[in-house]
Amino acid sequence: MRLVPFLFLAAICCRAEPFRLPTANHALFEKNGGEKFFVGTTGKPWESGGFGCVRSDGWQMHEGLDIKCLQRDKHGEPTDPVLATADGTVAYFSKNPALSNYGRYILLKHTVDGIEVYSLYAHLSEIRDGIKIGQPVKGGEQIAVMGRTSNTRERITKERAHVHFELNLVYSDNYAGWHKKNLPGQRNDHGEWNGQNLVGMDPKLVLQAERAQGAKFNLAQFIQGRTELFRVLVRKTDFPWLRRYRALVVERNIEKKSIAGYEIAFDFNGLPFQLIPHTAAEMKSGPKYQLLAVNASEYAKNPCRKLVRQRGSRWELTTRGTSLLNLLIY
Ligand SMILES: [Zn+2]
Repeated sequence: MRLVPFLFLAAICCRAEPFRLPTANHALFEKNGGEKFFVGTTGKPWESGGFGCVRSDGWQMHEGLDIKCLQRDKHGEPTDPVLATADGTVAYFSKNPALSNYGRYILLKHTVDGIEVYSLYAHLSEIRDGIKIGQPVKGGEQIAVMGRTSNTRERITKERAHVHFELNLVYSDNYAGWHKKNLPGQRNDHGEWNGQNLVGMDPKLVLQAERAQGAKFNLAQFIQGRTELFRVLVRKTDFPWLRRYRALVVERNIEKKSIAGYEIAFDFNGLPFQLIPHTAAEMKSGPKYQLLAVNASEYAKNPCRKLVRQRGSRWELTTRGTSLLNLLIY
């Protein structure tokens, strides 16, 4: 009988926060810590180093957090250790900074509350020696050193040294094939791990929710709670997102064989956070993708991904929106 209280305690006391900050800079959690935590773009306030429609007057997306450097060598170069945000495995890394605007970067895979999530750390000066794809890493373990690598024409100055940190879900298992077919003129040096196959969540919101909710935090619930920008009906019954993110599918009492498609809700960044199965009888014949609803107030706040647009009083999917759906069900 003594075992019961022990197990009870174990269940409530020791679920570690699944995600942690990837450097020693923890000012994100301080009151008015923004200035100390984020690095803005050149000449812009720190807010432009956050996640969202924070660039080009709200018309350009920044899909991660630019976290300020705390440590420098005698030449003023950043030396902050970069740490795994959670337990996981190495999914991908690119040691050639010339191949990406991420510069030298590493991607880790984690499974949290049934959700496959990928953390990305960019502009690194060094990736830890001997790191291999598939290798397990512990949350808090050093994986790299902060730097300022990138292949963009405008270099990251010493003053703006930071790690660019993302938390992503992945659209497709067939990205490389989709890219070849749909973007034939564009190089793809990173296979399935091209940034266009990753869709980000705001790591600040994830970390804050986790701190506020403690052991009650659940990543699937966090994702299900995103604000909807638009909702689409898709005539397809099998695609990677459905298999990978089962936790986001709403259970309905209908037979699997009578499912003819899914109603999918997307947030402003194009993250499909809720999928509802529909039968053929519920889906009138119509276009491949049917835009069901647009949240105009969310669009007014966060329009920068340009996935939908208004024509007169009617909303429609843009070319980008359609392209995202093509990739999702490819
Ligand atoms: Zn960035």
